[in-house]
Amino acid sequence: MTNNTPTPVPFINLVAQYQRIKSEVQEAVLKVFDDQSFVLGDEVAEFECDIAEYCDSRNAIGVASGTDALLLALMALEIGPGDEVITSPFTFFATGSCIARVGATPVFADIDPVSFNLCPDSIENKITDKTKAIMPVHIFGQCADMEPIWRNAVRNGIPVIEDAAQAIGAEYRGRRAGVLGTVGCFSFFPTKNLGGAGDGGLVTTDDPDLATRIRRLRVHGDLGGYQHAEIGINSRLDALQAAVLRVKLRHLDKWTTERQENARRYNALFRHYQLLDCVEPPTVLPDRRHVYNQYSVRVKGGQRDKVLQDLREKHIGCAIYYPRPLHLQQCFEYLGCKAGDLPQTELITSECLALPIFSELTEVQQETVVRGIAESLGRLSSPQFPTLYSDTPQISKAA
Ligand SMILES: *Cc1c(COP(=O)(O)O)cnc(C)c1O
Repeated sequence: MTNNTPTPVPFINLVAQYQRIKSEVQEAVLKVFDDQSFVLGDEVAEFECDIAEYCDSRNAIGVASGTDALLLALMALEIGPGDEVITSPFTFFATGSCIARVGATPVFADIDPVSFNLCPDSIENKITDKTKAIMPVHIFGQCADMEPIWRNAVRNGIPVIEDAAQAIGAEYRGRRAGVLGTVGCFSFFPTKNLGGAGDGGLVTTDDPDLATRIRRLRVHGDLGGYQHAEIGINSRLDALQAAVLRVKLRHLDKWTTERQENARRYNALFRHYQLLDCVEPPTVLPDRRHVYNQYSVRVKGGQRDKVLQDLREKHIGCAIYYPRPLHLQQCFEYLGCKAGDLPQTELITSECLALPIFSELTEVQQETVVRGIAESLGRLSSPQFPTLYSDTPQISKAA
């Protein structure tokens, strides 16, 4: 990097987070090595209790990944060939692939363009007598509109599987993600708000029978003593992951507050730079606690790809979640969906742009991001346009 290039802003900085908790994490990890108990065990059991309390769920079951959490939930609910599961096409791939993986058919319904979550009305006309579950995703850390979804499920006598991979600690009408449906699925992939030192996941449920079954399915369906009544998989949480995650869980609410403050600052910056006619910040619905796993704006007027490219040239981190909705993925061609089928999803796919939102992000970095967008859109009338958060110039000059 030359001295005249702007200060780069990383999209995420896990090193900065680790620096804040290094000694705590190292102590916890060393304890696991002293114990030499690496799979499940006390560390995982304690972590399961911590999460059950955090989410106010009766049961929590640690598994190997968020993907496996979804897979195990579907297996435990006996969803398979001939069944349909309604879900969102605007999500990470695993949401849809797990449904196909158990042999069922994913049915993609359109999203609400304000929250980017599954639209309850669009679910309505996708229900058939083959529908065996509804799987809403709490995308980017804001809960889906769960009440109408739950009512619809109850009316049809089917379960609701929450994909809460991005939403630990998110709330809907005062209740946490993971207890808003029949079963909740979490991911501890390193970039999630509660991220481990590798893969990890967890299932929550208030249903004791479902909990027992998922506990069994994660260890090959073993009833104990190598007796197998059904075929499970190997999907257990490692003690090392649980140890790291227990440390991080103690900091999660503080980190969430910092993410929320960053979001408020972005909103103020978009106002200051008079960009609100072409950049729409995420909308937080009044009955929700948004935990901002992503802060994804809508860039209007067909300018998203230009902004993306210009920010990348300035070494300002940004990303598109998700560049191709699931109903238009090649592997789901057999479902017979085509472009135009889910117009809101496709519109948001073409406009969304995720900006850095990690807890350690500074005000000056945020202003660099917004000035970068303003410049890309031809809205920065002059490089001297006054800054909001700092009098120091945004461009670092050679000393
Ligand atoms: C991350 C994620 C998953 C998968 O979790 P992994 O732990 O990576 O397997 C599933 N659904 C959504 C919405 C996710 O963001």
